[in-house]
Amino acid sequence: MTFGPSQGALDVSRYELELDYRVVGNRLDARARVHGVARRHLDRFSLDLAGLRVSRVLLDGRRPERWTHRAGQLTIRPGGVLAPGAPVVVEVHYTGNPRPIRGPWGEVGWEELADGVIVAGQPDGAPSWFPCQDHPADKASFGIVVTTDAGYEVVCNGSLVSRTARSSRVRWEFDQPEPTAPYLATVQIGRYQRWVSAAGPVRQEAAVPARLRAAFEHDFARQPQMFEVFEELFGPYPFAGYTVVVTDDDLEIPLEAHGLSIFGANLVDGHRGAERLVAHELAHQWFGNSVTASTWQDIWLHEGFACYAEWLWSHASGGRTADDQARTAHTRLAGLPQDLVVGDPGPELMFDDRLYKRGALTLHALRRTVGDDAFFATLRAWTAQFRHGSVSTAQFVSLASGIAGRPLDALFDAWLYAAPLPALPSAVTA
Ligand SMILES: [Zn+2]
Repeated sequence: MTFGPSQGALDVSRYELELDYRVVGNRLDARARVHGVARRHLDRFSLDLAGLRVSRVLLDGRRPERWTHRAGQLTIRPGGVLAPGAPVVVEVHYTGNPRPIRGPWGEVGWEELADGVIVAGQPDGAPSWFPCQDHPADKASFGIVVTTDAGYEVVCNGSLVSRTARSSRVRWEFDQPEPTAPYLATVQIGRYQRWVSAAGPVRQEAAVPARLRAAFEHDFARQPQMFEVFEELFGPYPFAGYTVVVTDDDLEIPLEAHGLSIFGANLVDGHRGAERLVAHELAHQWFGNSVTASTWQDIWLHEGFACYAEWLWSHASGGRTADDQARTAHTRLAGLPQDLVVGDPGPELMFDDRLYKRGALTLHALRRTVGDDAFFATLRAWTAQFRHGSVSTAQFVSLASGIAGRPLDALFDAWLYAAPLPALPSAVTA
């Protein structure tokens, strides 16, 4: 994984993944087709793929001159030079027992549950189950086919195109047409009940263990209202549908993927104890999944916004106001070490809670500075202009300054690029 700016050798447009998977024994037999074009002159190029055994590689249907698979890199030498813009289709056949990738953020990627599978790709887990250019800016559409044992539900990104049962095996085919960062591609397999939990304003599905259904229906009952609030504040929901998966296992934190979120059983208590996280994960569909930071350095564009959405939901649903939440967070942060630069946290601190809170406070500081009208106009313009795109902090600062009609660099510099915590500006609106 690269933390800073970089680009893969290919501009990938689509991943087509065919996965044959046996839950008992965690056995994967797979074929990936990676469609893309060369970004520059290439006499070789690499895809990220960790821990699995590659048996065959084809380039445009033919055997390349040479390929090697070492240290998580599948390197292909076409035999000749690919010109910039030359289209390529790389086909990779691979097998093995997929395992999560261990790094500074614990274990991420394909992981066995007690009875099923979870894939949590953020930030560098995608190569644990398919060959890819694992960079958040390298977005592509996905077609994922999973054939696995009967008795399990399979949830992947996008819409379920077909489901075909053949004796003890079921083939599930999904299509995700919008550009998706590889870390947001996912497969969830479990013994779930699956139903449409709400038809509007966006189609919402649930895949939940039967024992948790009643608690889920209570805890997620206000999710349709969340959609209404967020569509009004952030603009139209960027995808065709939204699915929530609850695993039978406990999970430390919930996770976002393209068009879905995954919660552990421990977060469904029947008392809405984790409702702020329901809002947080839903907000990621706008901030992170549709509008995606080009580099992990700018992760506050995901986490600060999703955290601020928690406060907005609290306010909209009759709880504490966003301003009140911001003041509390500010007081707490003031008592913690101020050694984190939100706009460049480094890999070790990118998921630090202080980044989430100070990222949210940065938005609140902007809101207090420019007023509610300009602030929410900025959020809506952000999700509209960069829908399904890749972004940087500089683009957000420029957009916000344009809408406010004055440069806001000093404000963002203090909140994002200096360690000391600034005071919250006094509000222009109540
Ligand atoms: Zn988050």
